[in-house]
Amino acid sequence: MASCPKGTPSTLLHLDAQVMGGQRVTTVVTKEELTEFVRSTILKRQEFDEVPFYILDLGVVVTLYNQMISKLPMIHPHYAVKCNPEPALLEALAALGSNFDCASRSEIEAVLALGVSPDRIIYANPCKPVSHIKYAANVGVNLTTFDSVEELHKIRKWHPKCDLLIRIKPPDDSGAKHPLDSKYGVDHHPQEIVPLLEAAEASGLSVVGVAFHIGSAATKFAAYRGAIAAAKAVFETAARLGNNKMRVLDIGGGFSFTNSNTKSFQEAASIIKEALHAYFPNELLPGSSLRVISEPGRFFTYSAFTLYTQIIGKRVHGEMRNYWINDGKYGSFDWVNYDEAIAKCTPLTLASSLTTSKGLSRTYNSKVFGPTCDAADEVFSGHKLPELEVTDWLVFSEMGAYTRARGTNFNGYNTAAIPTYVVRSNRT
Ligand SMILES: *Cc1c(COP(=O)(O)O)cnc(C)c1O
Repeated sequence: MASCPKGTPSTLLHLDAQVMGGQRVTTVVTKEELTEFVRSTILKRQEFDEVPFYILDLGVVVTLYNQMISKLPMIHPHYAVKCNPEPALLEALAALGSNFDCASRSEIEAVLALGVSPDRIIYANPCKPVSHIKYAANVGVNLTTFDSVEELHKIRKWHPKCDLLIRIKPPDDSGAKHPLDSKYGVDHHPQEIVPLLEAAEASGLSVVGVAFHIGSAATKFAAYRGAIAAAKAVFETAARLGNNKMRVLDIGGGFSFTNSNTKSFQEAASIIKEALHAYFPNELLPGSSLRVISEPGRFFTYSAFTLYTQIIGKRVHGEMRNYWINDGKYGSFDWVNYDEAIAKCTPLTLASSLTTSKGLSRTYNSKVFGPTCDAADEVFSGHKLPELEVTDWLVFSEMGAYTRARGTNFNGYNTAAIPTYVVRSNRT
């Protein structure tokens, strides 16, 4: 087994730095300190337009990173930047020793800007624009994925030194909330693999391994076992063709971790460990050159971010309450369905010192809309909330994964401009 991912953080990066990604980091040890930080941030925001804001807790990121390394010590994580490209998060992960999965030129730029060396980046997009391939060649990002002969043509022409992983479809990704196999990956059987390996060989390109992704927000972790078995079949096919360069197994992302459910990751980790021992036993022995990598996105982000939205409008219909908040379906909530939004939501009123009374015990059937003029911009309905007023707040927990990163500028509500404040709790 290749050396473990202790990480050799660049000397420029310090996890306990007072500034991360250009943001000041506030240490909050007690719950009261966090409450006070939220309160002062809200008061400060009131001098500006009513825009929502995020709070990123780096203490949570550290806990999650340590979980990942302790449960899967033989695997080198590459954080999937697309999930949430917040600079403070990227810098914290870089300081922890994480590697990165970038899928475009600007994601590579963002990671290199932190002082991370290009050999800690995999360009994990099987279908890349030529200009981005040229950029990767220029800056020395020399590992990418592919699943077609056409992609090989582009790489041969513009980045012939790049090492390649064949992206295969996991045999079963039916348990994933967002499966990816309709778009990416070839079947692991020789009839699809052999032509790709032969075309690479004929082009003088090095295929060095296999990549898969069992789908985002996976629930059936046996999918990892099936996919690791399929990857093994590809290693064997390559060996039969005389390819002795196969040395990378990329098990992708799909891991989830929430404050309330720590079991799912432990279950996934033990299935992965068993499957690696079953299908790659020799390769896991000391001295073997196999490098196993992963590409967690959701895992490192989901529970680290909390979203604070302000109520900007209200309408009363008898016992019904309609509220408008300043973020919605065209912003952070694109992938958050009603049930999830309700589960994440807590009302917050400054008048009540963020906690008690002001008639908070009486509740009304409430509907919450986003700020744009589309009627479909509804965050949730059919949920009871206390009587709230314009300028009160709704707080949404566990909003780090595919939220701000997926939002638009529809109707002039610019999701990318939502500010993030950074705290470090002692949850490590
Ligand atoms: C999106 C993506 C990831 C991250 O997936 P999560 O489910 O968020 O862990 C990893 N690898 C690739 C290739 C992806 O497209």
